[in-house]
Amino acid sequence: MAKNAYLEAMGIPVWKSRRNLPFAKQIEQGIVAPEIVIDEQQMEVDDDWESLQHQVKQCIACGLHQTRKNTVFGVGNLQADWMIIGEAPGEAEEARGEPFVGPAGQMLNQMLLAIGVSREKVFIANILKCRPPNNRDPKQDEVNSCQGFLKQQIKLIKPKVILAVGRVAAQNLLHTKETIGHIRGKPYALEETQIPLVATYHPAYLLRSPTEKSKAWVDLVLAKKVLEGRL
Ligand code: URA
Repeated sequence: MAKNAYLEAMGIPVWKSRRNLPFAKQIEQGIVAPEIVIDEQQMEVDDDWESLQHQVKQCIACGLHQTRKNTVFGVGNLQADWMIIGEAPGEAEEARGEPFVGPAGQMLNQMLLAIGVSREKVFIANILKCRPPNNRDPKQDEVNSCQGFLKQQIKLIKPKVILAVGRVAAQNLLHTKETIGHIRGKPYALEETQIPLVATYHPAYLLRSPTEKSKAWVDLVLAKKVLEGRL
């Protein structure tokens, strides 16, 4: 049960910020004007897991809510040492409501198994919680709208290492325009939390370019060393 539910069950009045209402309700009740909703940086995200999940399901902060069939919140172990962050759901992920379940997901599972980590032990999320039409690259306003959700997931899970898979995840998490080829191969610290982050190639790219798998292997070993404090 969420903290507020315990307090309410105990008869303790709980002050609820009306800003945590879904945006549609905030507009309806005149708390925010529609044009303020467009300022995605202002979005307040809920700080307990259940409310956060609910908030993602209801989100209309960017245009992707108009085309999505399902939101894809993320999946895995809430006590995970590893957090894997990809780009955005594809068709299979949107249909299942779960990240990395298509061919790229199979590849990701193999990558993890190669370093002795099973999918069940990690938490997997994406930069975007909704699928961009035709799997196009995420737009900056979509990333900005969604980033509060991911930040909150990271804060709640507190992974020991983050593995950013692919250019879009790495560039957005590290606020850089460098290519993934430049970013990969060294450890970083995520802003605010200072959680160690290692970036590698996207599993979908590795399916197309299997000769790059050896570099991904090096990155995974690096991430494992970082996690185990062996660097
Ligand atoms: N590619 C991603 O980046 N994320 C998914 O969930 C699926 C494919």
